[in-house]
Amino acid sequence: MIGLTELKIAEGHVIGNHSWSHPRLSEIAASDLAAEIEKTEYILEVTTGLRTLLMRPPYGAVNGDTLAN
Ligand SMILES: [Zn+2]
Repeated sequence: MIGLTELKIAEGHVIGNHSWSHPRLSEIAASDLAAEIEKTEYILEVTTGLRTLLMRPPYGAVNGDTLAN
């Protein structure tokens, strides 16, 4: 059975990271920020075999730590 992510890739869509639990990334600890990104990357890689270089922060909320990561 094909999942939504695999279907979107097969249709030619670009897949990016949008965090795991959709927090305001500018308001969470650096360790939590890393976990938000890495957990999502891990699931993407396990389910599709692909990784992404794209990240769109929820709400567009960023600060120096968000941009550095
Ligand atoms: Zn969103």
